[in-house]
Amino acid sequence: MICYECGHVINKDFAKFCDHCGASQEIKSKKANAKKEMAVKIEDEIDQATNLFLLWNASIAAAFVFYIIHVGTDNYSLLFLLVLLMLVLSWMLLLTKLHDLSVRQHQTARQFMLTNFVAPIIGTFYSFIKLTQK
Ligand SMILES: [Zn+2]
Repeated sequence: MICYECGHVINKDFAKFCDHCGASQEIKSKKANAKKEMAVKIEDEIDQATNLFLLWNASIAAAFVFYIIHVGTDNYSLLFLLVLLMLVLSWMLLLTKLHDLSVRQHQTARQFMLTNFVAPIIGTFYSFIKLTQK
């Protein structure tokens, strides 16, 4: 194995300390693992946010369609309300997920609130694009 600190080649495979500089090898490997896990976690969160974003988009489209049907036929109001409820729910879930991502990217809560609630739908689109880009 190779020392995390100085790059010295250590003969033993699972040495706890480097025999060149004395740096502990356990802490560093834990840190490296934690970093890797963190990166995987963020990828997962971005994936989840993307799924919610697509669901939310579908709900907007469906709500729009059912609204037109509802206005045109003066019927199906229950279906329209159901789709509207789904839109609100998926929006709430998406905002929660985006908020997690914004915390990770050190965006302040105020910035997040401003983008999402001053211009609700456009702000959410903007937040999603901004927070999920790599
Ligand atoms: Zn070393």
